[in-house]
Amino acid sequence: MRPLNIAVLGATGSIGRQTLDVIDRNPERFKLFGLTEGVRSANRKVEYTISGQSGVGDFDARVEAMVTDARCDLVVVAIPGARALGPTLAALRAGKEVALATKEVLVMAGALVMKAAGARGIRPVDSEHSAIWQCLWGEELENVRRLVITSSGGPFWAHPDMDLDQVTVEQALNHPRWSMGPKVTVDSATLMNKGLEAIEAHHLYRMPLGRISVCIHPQSVVHSLVEFVDGSFKAQLGRPDMRLPIAVALAYPDRLPDAVPQTSIKELSGLEFYDLDERRFPSVGLARRAAAEGGGNPAVLNAANEEAVNAFLAGEIAFSRIVPIVEEALGAFPGGGESLEEILEADRWARGWIRENFGTVRRA
Ligand code: MG
Repeated sequence: MRPLNIAVLGATGSIGRQTLDVIDRNPERFKLFGLTEGVRSANRKVEYTISGQSGVGDFDARVEAMVTDARCDLVVVAIPGARALGPTLAALRAGKEVALATKEVLVMAGALVMKAAGARGIRPVDSEHSAIWQCLWGEELENVRRLVITSSGGPFWAHPDMDLDQVTVEQALNHPRWSMGPKVTVDSATLMNKGLEAIEAHHLYRMPLGRISVCIHPQSVVHSLVEFVDGSFKAQLGRPDMRLPIAVALAYPDRLPDAVPQTSIKELSGLEFYDLDERRFPSVGLARRAAAEGGGNPAVLNAANEEAVNAFLAGEIAFSRIVPIVEEALGAFPGGGESLEEILEADRWARGWIRENFGTVRRA
């Protein structure tokens, strides 16, 4: 069998670089077909190299040509933000396999995207969704009682007496387990990332939001769990290393030998689990409500959160204001948002609303 031709959207980001690493180490299985790069150059000789620095219209047209090219088999989507939406839909409509790392795609437009994916579905790259996916292999969805997404708790969960009004940017960026960009790290501290992940899981596995819960698991060894109707749990364990979910997504339904260094059984010991305190961390409940409202509400949640996190990082609002500001934006949202255009409009509306109401907030 010839190697799988893979296009990587966002080849110079963290997920993109690790994806190239997995491809390079398995040349008999995978071939890098094309890529988009950001500020840095990926420096590869491939069929398509598309610079993110080119004009938006030109970028979009070239990316669409790459992901719909008859020779392309699989598209890894790892460019941040709403910009990933168009290429993802184009790839799915052209019948390509999609491995998805960009949260916004399912959070903003989950219904549209899953409709385009059809029975083929989407291969998740996020560690939690990869864990749930692996637990669901060979299972019937009707036998699932609930999905349980694990969270390390971020830097503040273990300090229940800490005044979240006084949190500094440095404290919020000091994540105990994973090393990530500033926006995602702040989302891990507010636990909004778990709210966004609950919305993603809802779409990926067509699971009602009431059957998706979040628990705190400080060791980050269990990447998520599935509970079945008979009372049984399945969990996926491993050391926190994104090359594993990437390898699972690229090789499905196979497994790649030595995708990550072998883990000793002792590294898997001492596992703790706690319920999420939704009063102290209201972000997950808020995300659930936004997704239940549907339409443009999840897009508003996502955009308002991004703007509020930027304001916190710029020192303009307190850490504890991030989630309440998102809630205020959702309360003010006039509604609408079934088509892609309307969803993008809801995104713009949320950013404009925050600009108007929090005038000192610096634009990203
Ligand atoms: Mg995750």
